Amino acid sequence: MEIYLDANATTPVLPEARAAAIAAMSADYGNPSSIHGTGLKARALMDEVRARARRVLGAPTGELLFMSGATEGIQTAVLSALTALRKRRESGEPMPQLLLYGATEHKAVPEALRHWNDLLRLNLQILAIPVGPDGRHDLQWLRERAPRAGLVCTMAANNETGIISDLDGIQTALTGSPALWMVDSVQALGKLPLRLADRPIDYAPFSGHKLYAPKGIGLLYVRAGAPITPLMAGGGQEGALRSGTENMPGIAALGAVLELLETGDLFKSANELHACGERLKSALRDAFPQIVFNADRAPCLPTTLNFSVPGVSSKVLLDLFDAANIRVSGGSACGASKAKPSYVLEAMGLDAWRCASAVRLSFGPATPSGLIDEACERIRACGASLRDSCLTQTFQRNAMPVERINRYVVDGSVCYLIADSSSRRCVIIDPLPQLTQQLVQWIRCRSYILTAVLDTHSHGDHASSATDIWRGIPAVLADTTDFRDRDSLGWPLGSQEIHLGEQRLSRLHIPGHTRDSTAYLLHDANGLCAAFVGDTVMPGALGRSDFDVSEPQKYGPSLKHLLAVVGSDALLLPGHDYDERYACTLGIEIARQPLVASVLKGSMDAKSFAAAKAHLERDLAPTEYETLACGARVDACRETASVELKPSELFARIDRGERFVLVDVREPYEHRLGVAPQLGEQVRREAVPLSSIVNAIPGWLAAETDATLVLFCRSGNRSAKAAQALRRLGLERTVSLAGGVALWPEPKQASRHAVSA
Ligand code: PLP
Repeated sequence: MEIYLDANATTPVLPEARAAAIAAMSADYGNPSSIHGTGLKARALMDEVRARARRVLGAPTGELLFMSGATEGIQTAVLSALTALRKRRESGEPMPQLLLYGATEHKAVPEALRHWNDLLRLNLQILAIPVGPDGRHDLQWLRERAPRAGLVCTMAANNETGIISDLDGIQTALTGSPALWMVDSVQALGKLPLRLADRPIDYAPFSGHKLYAPKGIGLLYVRAGAPITPLMAGGGQEGALRSGTENMPGIAALGAVLELLETGDLFKSANELHACGERLKSALRDAFPQIVFNADRAPCLPTTLNFSVPGVSSKVLLDLFDAANIRVSGGSACGASKAKPSYVLEAMGLDAWRCASAVRLSFGPATPSGLIDEACERIRACGASLRDSCLTQTFQRNAMPVERINRYVVDGSVCYLIADSSSRRCVIIDPLPQLTQQLVQWIRCRSYILTAVLDTHSHGDHASSATDIWRGIPAVLADTTDFRDRDSLGWPLGSQEIHLGEQRLSRLHIPGHTRDSTAYLLHDANGLCAAFVGDTVMPGALGRSDFDVSEPQKYGPSLKHLLAVVGSDALLLPGHDYDERYACTLGIEIARQPLVASVLKGSMDAKSFAAAKAHLERDLAPTEYETLACGARVDACRETASVELKPSELFARIDRGERFVLVDVREPYEHRLGVAPQLGEQVRREAVPLSSIVNAIPGWLAAETDATLVLFCRSGNRSAKAAQALRRLGLERTVSLAGGVALWPEPKQASRHAVSA
């Protein structure tokens, strides 16, 4: 069963609201502007809902207009205020110069201010009112600018943090100001007592879907006497202040919610909500002992918990909660290639790691207590799963088993940890400073012996963090008494090989990218398993060789040397992987990179190769992560063939007798929580986390089977990229389950193949 704890984004429609909406679409479908009986019935309903809203919002006077939602209410309020200011300017009256909004407002507010300020050619100065570390407005700052302000926008409660604004303080700061005052009350409805008419609030927008009504219905309160300019002109509905036939199903549904709010039958009291919030907080503290709550310095809606866990990204937490079938959201919006930190938390001046890794959990005032209890139980299970995966800062006797090669990626740079479970030894290759804590934690938590920390080359853009890792490891877990007993890349002086149980690492000098570039070759009893080649060969690119420490003339011969030693089919694991391709082979790169083909298959000599390469690397732009590009990508990710397979197509193809292997590519901490698509016995299942998928690739390549690999993850995004990568590596039949676990059909909707979701 799904537990939905993202009520600040939207809420489900209550049965009472649904029934009211259906009635307004079936028996009572009238247009309130019609003067016949059907229309009069609709008008009576609309009047009744408006009257109820006036009581609930404490707004006996002024306008209360039905709109499509808060965004429309915000537009109307801003347009109204700015039109009034323009009239003032046109009539030569003194004009305020500032438009002010709280730095943590929903984006609809500053965007509307900018939009209408431009469109009306007002050219007023738009300024964000700073907030303190408690998330509340800087009232002194506001007081100083209030006399010059034309409009001030401050929300009642914040959607990311739940922090409640000091409306009394803001009111005092605005005393004597000519400014109109808008209070975005979206998140306050049903959670805070609202006495709109008791304050000089000019505009207050509301949104129905944040409180159990459907999307597409909202309200705008406008104080009696405050200016109004309609956003939409037309048939003259809503007293010609908002034209367009009214959304009667939405109004009816909102009315049903307001009725429940007024009678108090369903919604929890402030005390009950507080108790629910505390229960969730306590479960979160048990699950993640290091947790910090990001809004604990000011009064806060008890229904919103915003938190960060040191060392655990919001992406990991979101995946974890989703795997436990709990829906929460990132406190920060995710950009295409990188999660953007939360501007709300940034405005509060919180540490960068907290802004970048925040998670928001929010419930509605009608959430049943039983659901909160179940959520607490699952949250504790999430904590246990994270601990057993050694992702939190505690020792785990029962840590989950580990794979041989584990991969970590930070902004396209890749670090590997090779583990051997029989000897409990491990080696790190190309450590990244951002991962030091996580790697040390990995070793301490599992009590593995750290045997070496190797770099494939000296890095131009960062110093090796090997020393920091050695320093973080207790002496009993370090395979050396003096880690300085190593060469500059971390190789133990005087050793030919590094042994990890049955596995062994050897090295191969391949100068070019840098003078000291080295490949590390991992062998087991069956031969070569993989080569860690740093930046020398990457999927679709060669490392650049225009650094002071590069040896461009040696690059071509090094590639030939590598080919001679490892062959064209060995799995090469790169030091950078911007397109999430995981691995390559020399054979594949010969086919994809003309320059590689020329030097390895053609007759291009070292000098011509160096010249052609220098040409490619001229004016190399930084990467999408704003980091130094490690090489020119000649085969960028342009795969367009669809790799997606819809569940319905999967069922049809199973019926036709095709064979499939269903591969769960989520991480072990997600697997543990158990929610996954199930298919009948005829479909084989594997769990192969993306962080260690490179271990499975040789086996899949070697298997002589006609089965199609169907990768799946939470949403289908990670698995689609991985399917592209596996196809590039020669596993051409690989597909990704469209929509992942999220869109897997309920058993009753699915064919007989879907056992359960
Ligand atoms: N204001 C706040 C505080 C919100 O949380 C939201 C929705 O997230 C909005 C405005 C916009 O509401 P809607 O998308 O319903 O128009």
